[in-house]
Amino acid sequence: MSNKISIAIVGAGASGLFLAKKLSENSANQLFLFEKSTKVGTKLKASGGGKANILNTDIQDFHYNNVPFMSNFLQKVSSHTIQNELMDMGLKMSVDNENRVYPSTFFSQTVVDVLLQNISEKVTMEKEYEVTKIEPVQSQWRINDYPALFDKVILATGSPAGMIAANRHNYNHFLTYFSLKRSDFRPSLVGFRIKNYYRKLSGCRVKAQVALCQNEQTIFQEKGEVIFKDDGVSGIVILNCSAYYNRLVSKSNCYLSLDLMNGDHSYNLEEHWKNHHSFCGILPPKLNEWYEQKPFDLRDLRMYIEGTYDIEMAQVCTGGIDVSELDAHLQLKKYKNIYVTGELIDIDGVCGGYNLFFAFACAYIVAQEINNGN
Ligand SMILES: Cc1cc2nc3c(=O)[nH]c(=O)nc-3n(C[C@H](O)[C@H](O)[C@H](O)COP(=O)(O)OP(=O)(O)OC[C@H]3O[C@@H](n4cnc5c(N)ncnc54)[C@H](O)[C@@H]3O)c2cc1C
Repeated sequence: MSNKISIAIVGAGASGLFLAKKLSENSANQLFLFEKSTKVGTKLKASGGGKANILNTDIQDFHYNNVPFMSNFLQKVSSHTIQNELMDMGLKMSVDNENRVYPSTFFSQTVVDVLLQNISEKVTMEKEYEVTKIEPVQSQWRINDYPALFDKVILATGSPAGMIAANRHNYNHFLTYFSLKRSDFRPSLVGFRIKNYYRKLSGCRVKAQVALCQNEQTIFQEKGEVIFKDDGVSGIVILNCSAYYNRLVSKSNCYLSLDLMNGDHSYNLEEHWKNHHSFCGILPPKLNEWYEQKPFDLRDLRMYIEGTYDIEMAQVCTGGIDVSELDAHLQLKKYKNIYVTGELIDIDGVCGGYNLFFAFACAYIVAQEINNGN
């Protein structure tokens, strides 16, 4: 009797590629990687503006949407573990002064190349193969009408973040077989549309201390660059605010408060105005133009949130399979030998390497479990 284990990995993104590498370390595993697109690691390549901020050396549980889950998760796998794994694969990395880890080439393709180079040639790679159906056949699983049956299936299909509407209507359709608690994908790490917006600000950029507030209460605050769009705002600091905005049960009366003095309380703005009758030496031209039409508090420029931009503009989605469906090894509690990793799980974090870390770390946990013969 053969003691080979046939394993299907569905999705060749960050999580799927990491899984393929880790699982190919055990020669008992017969691996099949299904990818619907012609290319692998597409989102990983798009990450970090093409530089791929792959990890953060100081991952904090409170920067994710589910703190209790992440607190447990981080005890099982740390950023250090994943950094070591990537280093062992031959990836040289650089860390910036905000603890963000990049490939030292600052080129996302390098990460994909390293992962691919480490995946055994024995892995059967099925590109342009969209998994639409997964069903049990006795103690194994069938994928579409694929000729082989699988002992284990790992779902690593991510979320529709960044996709145009036409491409996402059938996303993760194969989940219909499984009766699981899950929530619809909604955009996270995304810009905001602003009420009564001054369109002429489009193209303006400014460094500010930004607070996401609701009913005069600060929910989240960070410094960074705000990028003004045609009908709203974006930039990393804004994307991070959107992650916290998404976690609010009620979205009413939410606004962004921009401190354009960046927390500098000592500068006397009244004195400045008395002397110069203008803020053109403090504000970028378009903001100054707006100020001249409709004066505002430079330490509390309020922008009332209409909503977020569409999923197409988002870096990640909130929503997906509820963590209550998963055991400690990310196996579905109701369906033995089906595992879930990465963004398909209802976990999302802020910018700074949090989401790729989660995708790799899930893959690490599942691979450890399967390689240990469980
Ligand atoms: C523009 C952008 C920038 C980002 N920048 C960063 C960053 O700098 N740092 C960071 O941490 N995160 C970043 N992210 C988020 C990060 O890329 C994702 O969280 C991460 O890639 C998720 O990994 P995953 O493996 O779960 O899913 P994915 O990487 O999305 O992989 C899923 C794969 O499954 C395939 N697939 C889907 N359905 C099927 C199916 N039915 N059958 C077969 N294959 C299927 C998809 O084609 C895809 O290849 C960014 C995202 C975007 C869009």
